[in-house]
Amino acid sequence: MKNHFKKTIFLSAAACTALAFSLSSCKKTYNAEFSGTSAAVSVEEGTLTDTEANVLPNESTTVESNIGPTVPAANSGSQAQAAVLAATNTAAQSNKVSETTAAETAAPISFQSRDEKVYIMADDVNIRALPETGEVLGKANTGDSFHRTGYSDKWSRIEYNGQTAFISSDYTTTNVVEKKTSEAVSFNTDWEFGGNSKINSGTATLYYAAGSNKKGKTVCVNAGHGTKGGESVKTLCHPDGTAKVTGGSTAAGNTRAAAVSSGTTMSDGTSEAYVNLKVAKALKNILLERGYNVLMIRESEDVQLDNIARTVMANNRSDCHIAIHYDSTTKNKGAFFMSVADGIKGMYPVSTIWQESDRLGANVINGLSANGVKIFGDGSMQMDLTQTSYSKIPSIDLELGDKVSDYSDSTVAVLAKGIADGIDSYYS
Ligand SMILES: [Zn+2]
Repeated sequence: MKNHFKKTIFLSAAACTALAFSLSSCKKTYNAEFSGTSAAVSVEEGTLTDTEANVLPNESTTVESNIGPTVPAANSGSQAQAAVLAATNTAAQSNKVSETTAAETAAPISFQSRDEKVYIMADDVNIRALPETGEVLGKANTGDSFHRTGYSDKWSRIEYNGQTAFISSDYTTTNVVEKKTSEAVSFNTDWEFGGNSKINSGTATLYYAAGSNKKGKTVCVNAGHGTKGGESVKTLCHPDGTAKVTGGSTAAGNTRAAAVSSGTTMSDGTSEAYVNLKVAKALKNILLERGYNVLMIRESEDVQLDNIARTVMANNRSDCHIAIHYDSTTKNKGAFFMSVADGIKGMYPVSTIWQESDRLGANVINGLSANGVKIFGDGSMQMDLTQTSYSKIPSIDLELGDKVSDYSDSTVAVLAKGIADGIDSYYS
C-alpha cells in the first residue's frame, strides 16, 4: 500500500510537469510535495523507506560515490555539518552521525557521474544539503539552471552557491527550459474568505522579475475599479459580517457594500479607473526593473474580480498590496493613504497586520513626498474598507490625488517612482 501510494504521488507530479505549468491545481500538487511542511516530509520519508526495497546498492556501473544513510531532519545538524557530510559521504561518517537510524533508513543512493547543465521544470523545488530530509538551502524555480555532478533516479547532485547540494531528479531536465516571465492567476474559492467573493471569474497576471537584482518579493498592484457590473452586486464589508465603522462610498453601519464601485470621473471626463490603470502600469514597470515580482490585478478596462477577490488573491499570491485610486474631491488635495480605522483593529485578520499596513502606507507617502508629490494633511485618513478588512498582508488603498489632479505621463512617472521608493524603504 505504502509503495503504491508513493508511486501515485510521483506519477501525479510528473503528469503535472508534462502539462502546462499554469494549471494551479497541478502546481499545488508539486508545491505541496516540496514545501517542506510536515506532510511533505512524511511523503518523502515514506518514499525513502519504500525505495530501500527497490534499489540494489551499486546497481550502476558508473558509481562515483555513495551517500550513506540519510539523516532525519532532527539529527541533521548544522548546514556546515551537512555540507561536509555531503561532500565526503563515506559510510563511516554517516554512521557516526546517525547510528540508530542507519539500519532502519539505510538506502545508499548510487550517483552516476555527470558533468552537465540541468534546468528546473517547476516552482518552489527544494534544494537540500542532503537527499530526502537534509536542510533546505534554497528553492529553485522554473528555468533555473545548475551544474549537475551526479544523477540518480530520485536525486540529483548539483553545485549550489559553491557547495554540494541535492535536488529531486523528477524536476530536472537537460533540455533548455525558459524562465517564466509571467503567469495567469485564477481565483481559488478555497482560499480563506474566498467564499465571500461574488465576482471572481477574471484572472490577474503575475509578472516575474527577470534581472539579477531579484528581491524575492511580490507586490500586488491593484488598479482600483474597472469591474463591469460590480456596483450592482453586494458583498460583506467584513469577513465576520459585522457592520462598517466609518463612512465612505457606503455609510457606517452597513454590513454590505458594492462588490466594486464604479469610481469617480476626472474633471476632464476621463474615468478614475483609466487613470488608476495608467499609474498601475508605470508602477509595474519600475517594480520589475527593481527586482520585484508584480501581481497585476487589472490590465485592461475590465476585470471580473471584486474587491474581496482582489484582496484574497493578493493575500495568497503576493507579499504586499497597493491599490491605486483618486479621490472624488475637486481640490487637488494631494496624495494620502487610507490607514486602518481604530474600530476594526481588533477584528481578524486586521488584528494580525494593521501595524504593517500603516507602516507600508507611511513609507509610500514618504517616498511620494521625497519625489516632490503634494501630500494631503499628514498623508493618511482612517477608513474602514473592504480591502483592509480582508487583508492578511500589508495592504493600502492609496489615493494619489483627486478629480483635478494632473495625470500626464511625466507626473505619472514621478508617482510611480515615489511609490516604488516607498516600497523599497518599507522592505529595507
Ligand atoms: Zn477609487
